[in-house]
Amino acid sequence: MNPNSTSSSASTALDRYEAVIGIEVHCQLKTASKMFCGCSTAYDGAEPNTHTCPVCLGLPGALPTINRRAVELVLATGAAINARTPAATRWDRKNYFYPDLPKGYQISQYDLPLAAGGSLNLDTSEGPFTVGITRAHLEEDTAKLVHAPGSNGERLSLVDFNRSGAPLMEIVTEPDIRTAEQARRYAEELQLLLRAIGASDADMERGQMRVEANVSLRRGGTEPFGTRVEVKNMNSFRSVERAITFEIERQATLIDAGDELVMETRGWSDDRGETYRMRAKETSDDYRYFPEPDLPPLRVDPAWLQEIRAALPELPALRRARYRDELGLSPYDAAVLVADPDASRLFEATLAAGAGLDPKSVANWVTGDYLRIRNAAPSEAAPHADPLQVGTLVRLVVDGAISRVNAKEVLEAHVVSGQAVASIVAERGFRQISDVDALGAIVDAVIAANPSAAADIRGGKGQAIGFLVGQVMKETRGQANAVVVQAAIRARLGDGGAA
Ligand code: ADP
Ligand code: ZN
Ligand code: MG
Repeated sequence: MNPNSTSSSASTALDRYEAVIGIEVHCQLKTASKMFCGCSTAYDGAEPNTHTCPVCLGLPGALPTINRRAVELVLATGAAINARTPAATRWDRKNYFYPDLPKGYQISQYDLPLAAGGSLNLDTSEGPFTVGITRAHLEEDTAKLVHAPGSNGERLSLVDFNRSGAPLMEIVTEPDIRTAEQARRYAEELQLLLRAIGASDADMERGQMRVEANVSLRRGGTEPFGTRVEVKNMNSFRSVERAITFEIERQATLIDAGDELVMETRGWSDDRGETYRMRAKETSDDYRYFPEPDLPPLRVDPAWLQEIRAALPELPALRRARYRDELGLSPYDAAVLVADPDASRLFEATLAAGAGLDPKSVANWVTGDYLRIRNAAPSEAAPHADPLQVGTLVRLVVDGAISRVNAKEVLEAHVVSGQAVASIVAERGFRQISDVDALGAIVDAVIAANPSAAADIRGGKGQAIGFLVGQVMKETRGQANAVVVQAAIRARLGDGGAA
């Protein structure tokens, strides 16, 4: 489906083994303040340790208070994946020692998460696929360790507590995933969903969405699961797919050689294209979870949950289905539009503004030329596309008033400058030439000037028609009606074998 996807079909291990994959995602929730204190979460780019207080520094005696908005965002995520929320949930302490965790424990949720038993539907190149979601729970983020050389070149490890105590949601899937592509698609779809409901900006490169993959192999579809390895530090969707593909091959080679796999945590190196051992995997026993004594159990009022559910926006999967089933778009166009909120907004606004336009023509212009122009625009120049203007342009093309070639130029000028379409068209004198006699004369001249292309077409080489059409376009500054030109060339030289 995605033309840019790195295919896992080269993975020969999958001929011998079945991969079993479960994904854990941590994402930063979009709240104004931290999880258990009033410190602001707008610490991106701030001086280290400027967004702290006794609570998020873990000072003794400081007491947590719950961030209502963070709870709301996890409940919304749960509702969006059709999960259950128990009548009462609980906070638990996850105990471990690390310099980025000042209290010596993280407040998390162990056996009573805010959401449990949901699912997410994906489209993959092999068709639709549903991933079971075990749970989504709320916890607090750790501080950030910065390793930097000191003034005398000594090696220092510094701690920045700005991130300490920021709200984090962990979403864990069932071990349902079987290929690296499904895993990538799951992560992509989850990002779309989190963004659509406003739970997280979920930018992987900025650490707002951290994806970890658990991977094991087994010989057949009914054998018990094998030993799993957890892979982390992937900072793009592509690296999720690459890391899993690598890990499947690595494990297969070990099993082939009769070696035992060990349960471990491995890191992914994007540069070297391989995973490397980080540490032995902790088990939950090691964390000595116990109920958080400083916070009461959390009871979710059913009416509140109902309100949250009712306020959910149209979710990506439903929007794709609506584009396909109600507006007649191809699955590809629907997926491209829904994956890009800006494009999808322009598409819908253009349809709403432009009287009676066919959704497919609007989608073509938005997914094709608009996205190309926007993506090529320098980031400082905010591209500007007015739905009313885009609608006007599509109308001009559909009515045959200007050629496609000219329309591309007009769209580009509009997006870059914001100038109205009608004024660009008038200024550049664009109007489509469809007159058969006028175009016939130009076609004759072009054929006379390009005897070898003409001979090719006579000899059955249809590809040369495109070249002659291009020459006519040049002569007419792109104003010629391409369909009329093609017909004129075919009428003079035969149809060149194929269209
Ligand atoms: P932990 O925090 O210890 O990693 P979690 O329960 O949070 O434990 O996550 C475990 C993940 O590993 C889940 O996504 C689960 O589906 C997946 N998983 C469990 N067993 C296997 C296995 N044998 N192979 C691959 N993935 C597995
Ligand atoms: Zn604080
Ligand atoms: Mg894990």
